[in-house]
Amino acid sequence: MVFRQAKWNEPLIFEIDGNGRIGHIVPEPDEVVRRIVGGINIPEKIKRKKPPSLPRVSEVEVVRHYTRLTQMSYGVDTGPVPLGSCTMKYNPRIGFEAAYDPRITWLHPLQDEDTVQGLLKLLYLLQKWLANITGMDKCTLHPAAGAHGELTGMLITRKYHDLRGQLNVKKEIIVPDSAHGTNPASASMAGFTVVEVPSGSDGNIDVEALKTVVSEKTAGLMITNPSTLGLFEENIAEIEELIHNVDGLLYYDGANLNGIMGYTRPGDMGFDIAHINIHKTFGSPHGGGGPGAGPVCVKDRVVDEDKGVRLGDLLPGYIVEYDEDNDKYYLLGPGKHSIGLLKAFFGNIGPLVWGFTYILMLGAKGLRLVTEQAVLNTNYFASKIRKVKGFSIPYGEKRPRKHEVVVSAEKLYEETGVSALDVAKGLLDAGFYAPTIYFPLIVREALMTEFTESETLENIDRYVERLREISETAYTNPEEARKWPINTSVGRIDEVKANHPKTMAPTWRIYLEKMGK
Ligand SMILES: *Cc1c(COP(=O)(O)O)cnc(C)c1O
Repeated sequence: MVFRQAKWNEPLIFEIDGNGRIGHIVPEPDEVVRRIVGGINIPEKIKRKKPPSLPRVSEVEVVRHYTRLTQMSYGVDTGPVPLGSCTMKYNPRIGFEAAYDPRITWLHPLQDEDTVQGLLKLLYLLQKWLANITGMDKCTLHPAAGAHGELTGMLITRKYHDLRGQLNVKKEIIVPDSAHGTNPASASMAGFTVVEVPSGSDGNIDVEALKTVVSEKTAGLMITNPSTLGLFEENIAEIEELIHNVDGLLYYDGANLNGIMGYTRPGDMGFDIAHINIHKTFGSPHGGGGPGAGPVCVKDRVVDEDKGVRLGDLLPGYIVEYDEDNDKYYLLGPGKHSIGLLKAFFGNIGPLVWGFTYILMLGAKGLRLVTEQAVLNTNYFASKIRKVKGFSIPYGEKRPRKHEVVVSAEKLYEETGVSALDVAKGLLDAGFYAPTIYFPLIVREALMTEFTESETLENIDRYVERLREISETAYTNPEEARKWPINTSVGRIDEVKANHPKTMAPTWRIYLEKMGK
């Protein structure tokens, strides 16, 4: 397949000389505004001394600028994005239609409840459906994404032990070595000490090792199941018992729900708290196309018998409730025992509406089909890549995968010097997005690959074919592999410079400072 990406010599928008042209005139506040808010009186001391240096270009220049940038870019609407753990599935346009309906986008969070009954009903149903899909009792739609959900879960865990008078003892959160980096980060942000447990060679958590770290100090355990290796944790029942025996809570990182949805549920596995990444499992865009949404669901287990406090009372934000007698939906919270608010208002409504639409469109049977197709795609790919020289599938080599598979290019690297990074660049060069590389940390030269259910058989075949070509080039002409990519709009970038605090320039202002302008 021939691939060549568009290449424009496009300056930054700040560098475009609009020659005095401007696209928009900000009006002076008119008489009506003046009368309502009594004029705009910004205190002198917080006023800018000079106007911000915004780009001065006309509308057509803005549109062309960004259109050209999109032509030099790549996304899930261009081709496969098998970025493992991220579940970069196609975002069905019907979700866009719903989320961007003016009847949603023109609502204001401070509007009277009576005027937003439709949206509240939608959110109420979504809470119910997510509870059902995860096997939990109560959900909040408040957190902004998965990592935010994790922090929520850890703060709930903290509050749980606090209300039980155990916070001075319960200091540790156990996390497996295959965990996503946000897990230990969230536990640590919530004030816990992180204890790592290793995975066995079969990819399951090493239960004997777990037994040695579980103690009275254990506040909880955070895991994702299936794991980031794409493997179902076979000892989950035993793990659940170990943690609950010391009154720890089990937190479920739901980023990999796409591998089990409709087949099993975190609630049935004994988890107490779970987050859901709407932008992964339920089809709303993420990455640059965000924002995401990270609802958190809990089992309504008892926290304090005497005071009648349950885990659901600890949830943050607002919960939509339904008053049957008056046929009215209303917002409740945050209540007395809630961990409070983690952001403004009710959650990221756009992605939530998108996720609602996705679930409504597919129904229960459809969601099961999603899982089946995603798992089939992964195992089809795994069966093919096993036969390509230089690649292997470590950890439980013979075990079937769920939503993703972590391929190792270790042998290729040792025999040819061509690394996982070079392989990734070789994929970009053929019009594919690369898999996640060098993660999870326990796999050397890792290529974490996830096609999801929305990728076509033809594309998976082409992808394998490209990996076969890459392997061939590596063994015959490794120098060539190190020059990739040459067909993309931007060639091989200096990864160190791009990430080093000394050279990284994420904003125009910082860029100017670093250039000494
Ligand atoms: C994506 C991901 C997260 C974090 O979720 P965000 O929505 O990106 O904040 C956590 N754990 C795993 C395994 C993930 O893949």
